[in-house]
Amino acid sequence: MSEPNIQPGTAKASSGESREGAAGRRRTILPGATIGVLGGGQLGRMLAHAGSRMGYRFVALDPTPDAPCGQTAEQIVAGYADREAARELARRADVITYEFENVDAGVAAMLEAESYVPQGSALLHTTQHRLREKRAVEAAGARVAPYAEVASLAELKAASARLGLPAVLKTATGGYDGKGQWVLRSEADAEAAWPEAERAGTELVLEKFIDFAMEISVIAARSPSGEVRTFPPAENVHVDNILHLSIVPARIGENVRREAERMAVSIAETLGAVGLIAVEMFVAKDGEIYVNELAPRPHNSGHYTMEACRTSQFEQHVRAICDLPLGDSALLTPVVMANILGEHVEPLLAWMRERDSEAERLGVEPKVHLYGKAEAKPKRKMGHVNVLAPNVDAALAWIAQSKIWRV
Ligand code: AMP
Repeated sequence: MSEPNIQPGTAKASSGESREGAAGRRRTILPGATIGVLGGGQLGRMLAHAGSRMGYRFVALDPTPDAPCGQTAEQIVAGYADREAARELARRADVITYEFENVDAGVAAMLEAESYVPQGSALLHTTQHRLREKRAVEAAGARVAPYAEVASLAELKAASARLGLPAVLKTATGGYDGKGQWVLRSEADAEAAWPEAERAGTELVLEKFIDFAMEISVIAARSPSGEVRTFPPAENVHVDNILHLSIVPARIGENVRREAERMAVSIAETLGAVGLIAVEMFVAKDGEIYVNELAPRPHNSGHYTMEACRTSQFEQHVRAICDLPLGDSALLTPVVMANILGEHVEPLLAWMRERDSEAERLGVEPKVHLYGKAEAKPKRKMGHVNVLAPNVDAALAWIAQSKIWRV
């Protein structure tokens, strides 16, 4: 017999079942139920906006009081590794999701045992470690940059000789936005980087440097029923290793688009993903696609979907974890998403006060999203602007002449 659905407004009535441990079982979660989010940052906030509109309630667990998600949902203020707080989250929620991938393994296992976590913890385990992730991507029939695990300076030198330089040395765990990475162009670079890399105290992987023409990402959504949909590929421009722009439609040929989407679907299916999985890729100058990284959650390069697609990535994630039919992910308009970092907030606010005749002339509509973070530190992600436009050139022209991004 199938699981009874959780009915609107009566969600807690079935939560006794959660305590018996229902991980892995399929359930349809209907509006009225409460979605618990591990992490209370901007991804949780935008998830709560999308899900609240559909009638779900949200409770987030985050150590920072008044976190971005805590402003739009209930918040439990506690550390991510705090088991009692995680237990409280499980008690208050009918279904649990997370907005970052470095979830403490013990907490993840506990939540799976005591609550309903449709995403499970297996995919988290895979994506928390670059080597495991690369093997999983290869198993899904997608290519990754040639790589080698290195455990000593001698092994690093041998791998550099085998793969060829330049290459990138990366920590297997804990790195993000270019942290925990060293670009090696010579043997001297390898010797210089090794002591710091070794001090990181995690396994290390050396990757061949891909001379890419473009970075793209495809976000796929998969539901427990096995339905899979992808969003249109985004062309991503990074500055100082932090995402600056996502340009959609990406300026790629039809074959690259089809292959990138095929890879994302294959990865979502082979890894048994539930919810969103973002697949970051390099498109090499010869058109070959290499998968760089996976993220099993909403992704910065998918923020463009909020106004530019029929269904946003956040609504799609809610639909997927609740096992509702997935929404149409078709693009409604060309768009460029530009991130607002701490240093961009003041010029953004100055711009917001005035009517923008250039935007009108170009026919673009910049949509502002700010995350409610108290302190605008340099390089901190504070918001983004989705520039809806008749074509991506008009959006890029508006961004180039705007005084918000001086990069
Ligand atoms: P990651 O943390 O792995 O996403 O890397 C951050 C950024 O560094 C990427 O978005 C690329 O711009 C660059 N990068 C990382 N690995 C490579 C590689 N193997 N070849 C070329 N560029 C890379």
